[in-house]
Amino acid sequence: MILSVTKSVTKRKQALDFNQLGLSDETLQTLAKIGYQRPTPIQAALIPLALEQLDLIGQAQTGTGKTAAFALPILELVELKPDKPAAIVLTPTRELAVQVSKEFQKLAGDRELSIVCLYGGKPMKGQIDQLKKGAAVIVGTPGRVIDHLKRGTLSLNAIEFAVLDEADRMLDIGFRDDIEYILKRCPESRQTLLLSATLPPAILELAKLYMHEPKMVNFSLNKVAAETIDQYYLLVPEELKFDVLLDLLRREQPQQCIVFCRTKLGTERLYRKLIKSGAIAGLGTIHGDLAQSARDRMMQDFREGKISCLIATDVVGRGIDVTGISHIINFDIPELSDDYVHRVGRTGRMGKTGVAFTLVEPWQRAELAKIERKINRQLAQDPMQAEVDRVAVEKLGMKLGTAAKSKYRRAL
Ligand code: AMP
Repeated sequence: MILSVTKSVTKRKQALDFNQLGLSDETLQTLAKIGYQRPTPIQAALIPLALEQLDLIGQAQTGTGKTAAFALPILELVELKPDKPAAIVLTPTRELAVQVSKEFQKLAGDRELSIVCLYGGKPMKGQIDQLKKGAAVIVGTPGRVIDHLKRGTLSLNAIEFAVLDEADRMLDIGFRDDIEYILKRCPESRQTLLLSATLPPAILELAKLYMHEPKMVNFSLNKVAAETIDQYYLLVPEELKFDVLLDLLRREQPQQCIVFCRTKLGTERLYRKLIKSGAIAGLGTIHGDLAQSARDRMMQDFREGKISCLIATDVVGRGIDVTGISHIINFDIPELSDDYVHRVGRTGRMGKTGVAFTLVEPWQRAELAKIERKINRQLAQDPMQAEVDRVAVEKLGMKLGTAAKSKYRRAL
């Protein structure tokens, strides 16, 4: 198995209409009904190749229409009967699993389709009952899928189509062994699609091991991020970050925004502090320490617009697909530059414009430079910087005397 990277695929002339992609009339009717007028670039490139039953690596992330790019070929190619799952989609998070299954169901239109969503945090019993009733498609997180395999409540020996969604994230979380465990239990003859925003060596290695001469379809998010999202940074000492965040939110009046923090604790703290301040309406938070039911509720409220400002960690923030997100604020600069790309990709979706702000503590300048190298673009300094500097010098000066004051000036 050799990884054949076909650059030409990316240059393929983009089809303008769904009816040029080789989809059936039934599917075309459903797409018209649900109001999808034109394929997105990833759909235009990926669907015809997937229909040729090729294994594919698509470099794209949530928000580009990638779910339909794999769900439509599955609906066309696989006989989806409830007696045995014939397709499996693995996702890194519960939120993404739910999202994918909803989109799948929507795309199935009038077709009878039993999708079972398997993820942790929910009792096994309900999922086992659902599996017993029949599952044609499984969408799940690797850990819970394995739980079912080990209990014998799920069998993958009739799988014809496997999808690894947000594969890079699954590897980041440490799902590599789980993915291998699952793929080894699917027939070798299956078709495999791998979607990933980034393609680190570990992904290519996985592809080499478990895919048949995969073709690469590149819609690099780095490019997308650079093109459709205005991105700014502010150098802010830690003590001032909260005030700067409030000023940004007041100035920008986002339609909907996500404020990202690095840690669960930091996320919860910031959320509470914002609530206490009473300055911002429509607050919500989502992080791994919350019970699944609370996470589901927050997501639902965010989707429905009841929450307009969501404070989140990377893991849960990553899969969020809400088209109205106008702003991303990195309250904490992400540790990994890939995470920056993912966070910022939550806005500017489906061709809309978005704006992202990153608060950088002066000692984190190297991290900012790393991100800039990653996206091949320099972030613009927000005009509020002058005011932040003035207050910073004043405050630090008052608190720590002139040495700290000049140290801070030098850091700037
Ligand atoms: P995804 O990247 O798969 O998470 O899709 C992002 C959002 O775009 C979802 O809400 C989809 O329902 C929507 N979507 C996907 N493809 C299209 C299309 N061709 N036209 C309009 N909306 C779409």
